[in-house]
Amino acid sequence: MDLDLRELYQEVILDHNKNPHNHKKIEDCSHHADGDNPLCGDQISVYLNTDGNIIQDISFEGQGCAISVASASIMTDLIKGRSLDFVQKLFNYFQSLVTQEDTPPDFTDKETSLDELQVLSGVKQFPLRVKCATLAWQTLQAALANQESVATH
Ligand code: ZN
Repeated sequence: MDLDLRELYQEVILDHNKNPHNHKKIEDCSHHADGDNPLCGDQISVYLNTDGNIIQDISFEGQGCAISVASASIMTDLIKGRSLDFVQKLFNYFQSLVTQEDTPPDFTDKETSLDELQVLSGVKQFPLRVKCATLAWQTLQAALANQESVATH
């Protein structure tokens, strides 16, 4: 990681960890799941309401390291109000972003700035941290599949 990206990485992660976005419980949500990353001790619950194909509202609660909380905060910002198709594409993009050595597949979306998400690609140098970064996303997938809980392994 070059120096600029490292500074940006710390800034973005610390900001979101300090003031997580959409950090609350949605009562009467249509989907919910609890995610557990035992290797780090991160526990993230994701709540959402869908209206047909659209994610009307999404939030999360939980405790965890700065990376797991920042990733959940960024995720909820990016997908609120978006379609399930979009979420799936973004999920695939993010997975490759944090796990692959090569450049991830092209993903562009006029309405979405991927800058903060791309900052998280810094975790791919630290395999244990990848699970922290992907926990919220896996929990979201579980919620959408109506599974109550998911654990990273
Ligand atoms: Zn963690």
